Amino acid sequence: MKKYSNSVRLFFFGIGLAAVLALTGLNVYSLYELRESTISSARDIKKNQLEEFSTEVRTRFLRPGFLIRRLDIVHIQEVFNETGDLPYKVKEIIHEASTDSLFLDIYYSSETEDGCVDPAFPIFKYDNFTGSFRVSDNTPRSVCDGMNLSRSQIRARLADDYRWTIKFTFDSYRTMTLSLINVDERRVIGYLTFVINNDYLINDFLGPELVNNFGPNSDSGMVVWLRDWISDEILYSSDDRFTYKRGDIDFRQRFPEMLDTWILHAKYVESPTVTASNASLIRNLIVLGIAVFVLFSALVFMYFTAKKERELAHRQAGFLANVTHELKTPLAVMQAAGENISDGRVTDGKRLKAYGEHIYNESIRLKKMIEKLLDVAKSDSGQAMVNPAAWNLSELAANYVKENEAYIKQKGFKLELNAPKTVPLALVDAENVETILNNLVENAIKYSPDQKYVGITVKHNGNHVQLSVSDKGIGIPSKAHKYIFDRFYRVEDALTARTKGHGLGLSIVKNMVDLNGGTIHVKSEPGKGSVFTVSFPVMLEGTESIPKESAQSNKQTLAQVSEYVHE
Ligand code: ADP
Repeated sequence: MKKYSNSVRLFFFGIGLAAVLALTGLNVYSLYELRESTISSARDIKKNQLEEFSTEVRTRFLRPGFLIRRLDIVHIQEVFNETGDLPYKVKEIIHEASTDSLFLDIYYSSETEDGCVDPAFPIFKYDNFTGSFRVSDNTPRSVCDGMNLSRSQIRARLADDYRWTIKFTFDSYRTMTLSLINVDERRVIGYLTFVINNDYLINDFLGPELVNNFGPNSDSGMVVWLRDWISDEILYSSDDRFTYKRGDIDFRQRFPEMLDTWILHAKYVESPTVTASNASLIRNLIVLGIAVFVLFSALVFMYFTAKKERELAHRQAGFLANVTHELKTPLAVMQAAGENISDGRVTDGKRLKAYGEHIYNESIRLKKMIEKLLDVAKSDSGQAMVNPAAWNLSELAANYVKENEAYIKQKGFKLELNAPKTVPLALVDAENVETILNNLVENAIKYSPDQKYVGITVKHNGNHVQLSVSDKGIGIPSKAHKYIFDRFYRVEDALTARTKGHGLGLSIVKNMVDLNGGTIHVKSEPGKGSVFTVSFPVMLEGTESIPKESAQSNKQTLAQVSEYVHE
């Protein structure tokens, strides 16, 4: 039955423990997930922000092209063929573009052949003072390159099914060329090439925009570098406090279909959102940790208290059965002896004496037993009274020996007392000290079947006076040391089983030592014997006891002691 209920208890304890662990795991996981999703959504926002940024840059480049795309390309071709100039509406757009610092110069070539190579096919340059195109006599190499690049690209596209009237071609960061396409005839009518102002683009446009959007004051949680991958050069950084490290980059963003040698490299840095969610994660983990700790401690505490309670109840039940038996035995002996005497059956003097001794011894045993039970009952109900006074423990030990020497020796024991009168006084209840000594010596006698020796020692040790009782008996296994002062606890071995006792003596001793402000500890090894040492704090440096009348109250005694101190 006990085994069964033990397993049930363990089972529920296990379930409780598993539930606490599972809940903790679950909570930590969801807190972590919550933090991750907060951070990742904050990061997604940043990512989109960078994407939007690259699109904005693109829109500024493509604006002239988008405006021209709305016009009639065939009409542009006709006007150019007739007048040798572009229609007003186109020039209006080009004029606007020429005022944008992004573009240095704007060139136009109407022919499909390379005007840079064959002077028969002129290239025109837009003059924004006069608002018209003039033949360019010194076309830069980059313009020719840009036009040639567009030419080769659009040829291939026209062969497919290209249906737009404008085709943008970027020669990396040098030029942007618009091929104007007559879709019906599937041919290019001309090329408009915008020379890109690189310096302005990097230092006055992209750079400041990057700083503005992702710089130190933006709280964006991201640092962005503009990198030219061909020259392997960082052209701009949104925040100079961070050094660029290639392996550290979290993601890259291109400018769609333009500036194709340039890439934006981005790295997440601690942003207010990340800091806040980290702090909240830590806060939550701490609160959770404390809660789990408290819960776990409560669980363990409940488990062990229940276990202890059960053990105590078990021992108590055993004790009751024993004690009734123990009380009955001396009574039965006394009853039988008394009956024999009163019947007049025993008349012989010698036998009468023996019967008398029996009755006497058994009544002493009974008395001791009842006293013990009373002590337990008193300490249980909190009624144990202490009458402290300044006592010389050596004197108390000597008194005890004087009274009990005959009894101990009669049991065949060698008794050694080592109690110098010079020890200082301690504030103790003399009757309690006697009970303590009595129990310890009784035990020494009970548990020393072979080497019959009892030693009583009193000594001054620092600011304590120590009273020890030693024996050379069976000793106590070390794992039992912490239990022997528990009520009803008895070491489980053959000799203890044969020896009378209920596991009460040491618990009474411990209780009395506590009440007198002392401590007790045991040094014992199986087979070698035991030493029980009780320490009381030194009360006075004097050696002469100040006993008091037992009728006096505690208050009086203490007053007496303090008077003594003041003297
Ligand atoms: P008991 O009535 O069983 O002696 P105690 O509370 O006095 O109860 O002691 C508790 C247990 O401690 C004993 O049952 C015994 O096993 C062990 N014990 C106490 N004193 C000694 C000793 N001097 N030598 C060996 N074992 C001892």
